[in-house]
Amino acid sequence: MNPTLPMQILVLNCGSSSVKYQLYNMADETVLCGGVVEKIGQPDATCTHIWGAQSLSEPVQANDHTRALAQIRDLLLNPNRGGVQHADDIAAVGHRVVHGGETFVSATRITTGVERQIAAYNALAPLHNPPNLTGIQAARQCFPNAIQVAVFDTAFHQTLPEHAFLYPIPYALYEKDRIRKYGFHGTSHRYVSHRAAELLEKSPDTFTGITCHLGNGCSITAIQNGQSVDTSMGFTPLEGVPMGTRSGDVDPALILYLADQKGLTIAEIGHLLNRESGLLGLSGISNDLRELESTTDPRAQLAQTVFAYRIRKYIGAYLSILPPIDALVFTGGIGENSASMRAHILQDLNHLGIVLDPERNRQLDGEGEISTPNAPIRILVIPTDEERLIARETLSAVKEQND
Ligand code: AMP
Repeated sequence: MNPTLPMQILVLNCGSSSVKYQLYNMADETVLCGGVVEKIGQPDATCTHIWGAQSLSEPVQANDHTRALAQIRDLLLNPNRGGVQHADDIAAVGHRVVHGGETFVSATRITTGVERQIAAYNALAPLHNPPNLTGIQAARQCFPNAIQVAVFDTAFHQTLPEHAFLYPIPYALYEKDRIRKYGFHGTSHRYVSHRAAELLEKSPDTFTGITCHLGNGCSITAIQNGQSVDTSMGFTPLEGVPMGTRSGDVDPALILYLADQKGLTIAEIGHLLNRESGLLGLSGISNDLRELESTTDPRAQLAQTVFAYRIRKYIGAYLSILPPIDALVFTGGIGENSASMRAHILQDLNHLGIVLDPERNRQLDGEGEISTPNAPIRILVIPTDEERLIARETLSAVKEQND
């Protein structure tokens, strides 16, 4: 590798009140250290830092993202805690940015112009893009000599064909306002599709499959020859399958009804669909599947049934738009850990070539295959690793710049 290329890459994922970070040595892609600062802006902000088998958790002064990142910088500059000797050893910082609209189709080196374009998408991702930008500005102050790169959640889905990304509403709304399906979780879908291709001994650009990212947020993606051709999330991350607290697909007229007949404001309807629906709304108990699985409450069971049913419908829909698929992949907190939900989703799909091996499914811990040995479609469970892909894409963006 060219010695001028960065070996240490810092990956940052900045939320409204938290900064997650991971430092990679890209010579062999090892994680040197990582952690999270939580409750930024509050007096009880804390930092959890992990290096090797060791960890620490301590209160920190983090009035804002810049202060939080300054605390992280101190930890990253401590070789006894997995860090490096000098700030300049961190040659690049890769930022997770949620919305890149139609402008950004791949990881991009950040300039002031790029920042302006990211800000232009604030209205499309009001909870995510503003803190992502704050993180970029803070990183520029704390690591002034590092190359800053943005890796977009939407970029992987920019290959969707027009017939998949357009909504059947007046075309002018797309032309003038860019209202269309964008899709999210792109970094996760791309990562697991690459890993699935590796496990199946194929090159990523020949992989055809369906990837199910099931966590607190959930999305399903149809991938043909390595490219996203359809995905369940849409203009916002609210569309698609049910999630922890988000409804996923509902009749759009329901919003009109809630406003007209029930007198709810737009903000109240937004809250209802984003924060009070999904597993939480149906069960009335929790958005956490672990809690729902540990009770016999009938509404907890009902919430799981609706969740599984709607995901099964998306899998069926995507089987119909793809050529024969290589694999169905599960990832995310639920997809990776809940054998019972995987079994629930996949029941009675044998006629479609999806045959779950109940024993392999129950016994799997981590990555592996859970289909029967001769099933036409392989079913894989692959723990997602968005940070690793952000580090890889950051390195590629830097290399392209240097070439
Ligand atoms: P994520 O957003 O990917 O971190 O996923 C979070 C969700 O994964 C949680 O809300 C839980 O519902 C679910 N989850 C994590 N571990 C388990 C588990 N062992 N069994 C069932 N669900 C789990």
